[in-house]
Amino acid sequence: MTFQNTLEFAQQLDSQDELKQYRNEFIFPQHNGKDVIYFTGNSLGLQPKKAKEYVDEVMDDWANLAVEGHFYANKPWWDYQERFAQPLSKIVGAKPSEVTVMNTLTINLHLLMVSFYRPTSKRFKIICEEKAFPSDQYMFQSQVRHHGYNPEDTIVEIKRRDGEHNIRLEDILSKIEEVGDELALVLFGGVNYYTGQVFDMKAIVEAGHKTGAIVGFDLAHAAGNIKLELHDWNVDFAAWCSYKYMNSGPGNASGCFVHEKHHHSNLPRFAGWWGHNKERRFKMEPQFDPVHGADGWQVSNLPILSLAPYLASAEMFAEVGMEKLIKKRDLITAYLEFILHEIDKEIPSAEFEIITPNDRACQLSVYLHGQGRELFDYLMKNGVITDWREPNVIRLAPVPFYTSFEDMYNFGQILKRGILK
Ligand SMILES: *Cc1c(COP(=O)(O)O)cnc(C)c1O
Repeated sequence: MTFQNTLEFAQQLDSQDELKQYRNEFIFPQHNGKDVIYFTGNSLGLQPKKAKEYVDEVMDDWANLAVEGHFYANKPWWDYQERFAQPLSKIVGAKPSEVTVMNTLTINLHLLMVSFYRPTSKRFKIICEEKAFPSDQYMFQSQVRHHGYNPEDTIVEIKRRDGEHNIRLEDILSKIEEVGDELALVLFGGVNYYTGQVFDMKAIVEAGHKTGAIVGFDLAHAAGNIKLELHDWNVDFAAWCSYKYMNSGPGNASGCFVHEKHHHSNLPRFAGWWGHNKERRFKMEPQFDPVHGADGWQVSNLPILSLAPYLASAEMFAEVGMEKLIKKRDLITAYLEFILHEIDKEIPSAEFEIITPNDRACQLSVYLHGQGRELFDYLMKNGVITDWREPNVIRLAPVPFYTSFEDMYNFGQILKRGILK
């Protein structure tokens, strides 16, 4: 398709957009009486209108039924997480028994590492990406120390080559092979939060397994954003937060994946009553008998009020399906890229560089060489919500569920004024 940087062209793309009605299903913050241009769905997704309805339903059940809501609520609370099995399994490419929701992301990665990071004196190393999200770095360091190892000898980061913004797959694979039989765990992001680089998870799993290691993923920026085939790729475990692309609300619950092949294993875990055999949970038995599935990693009574908006959102994803979202994602991101290039051509003083590689989803990370913070502030003051990452990067994520092609055009106009100012 040949793009044009005009309002008419953008509106034409919107009129052909088969997801266009979904924009009305979300609530946009207002700027001068108009919807903001929202580029931070990779940080906190917008509120689906349906979320409030689902929360109100829980509040009403609580008011009307109190403790009886556990069994008699419209959506009973005692096994509420099972409502996620169908929609989430479609989104992440899993069997329903392989997914569950609980806790928050870093907590779940810690819990999963209890089961899947089992270092021995010979096999103890962890491979991860350089400059992983800070929470992941703290997690690795504290887990390694918890087992009595030294992070410096244990955590192997895959680095970017000098002058490059992205990690090369060949460097990941060769490092995995090199660490070989000392490698206990590969725990990588699915999509890098800073650059938006999408990693070839299938290849990473194969390489990791070949050395005898376990392979898991932090899918914070991947769930609801890219096509995942966790079961078929033979991923051992994964977790994601739901408040980014999955629009579940601030700090909300995390989803977990545990591959079927581990469901009957004797892996150690930090257990709690919600992971106990469902039929016998309320018999209050002393001996832990885990559910054979991802639900067996559950610990506590479920936070229903936070799961309710997540469920509303997960159902919307399942209704639309990842294929349509990905189709629009690729078109709208390409259009945004086109507009950035047009401005680059048109204005000599525009000095920015898209550091996101071709292996990408909807995020474009733009390195501002000339203008920096000032341009970012100008955008924010003019109704463009984006974010700033040191030293000089803004991240633009046109989320296919609710951003429009017209937003991309309008953004370009505001950006231009900001640069020429
Ligand atoms: C957003 C993000 C997190 C956040 O973890 P929480 O425990 O939900 O605060 C962790 N890892 C990555 C890669 C992220 O992008």
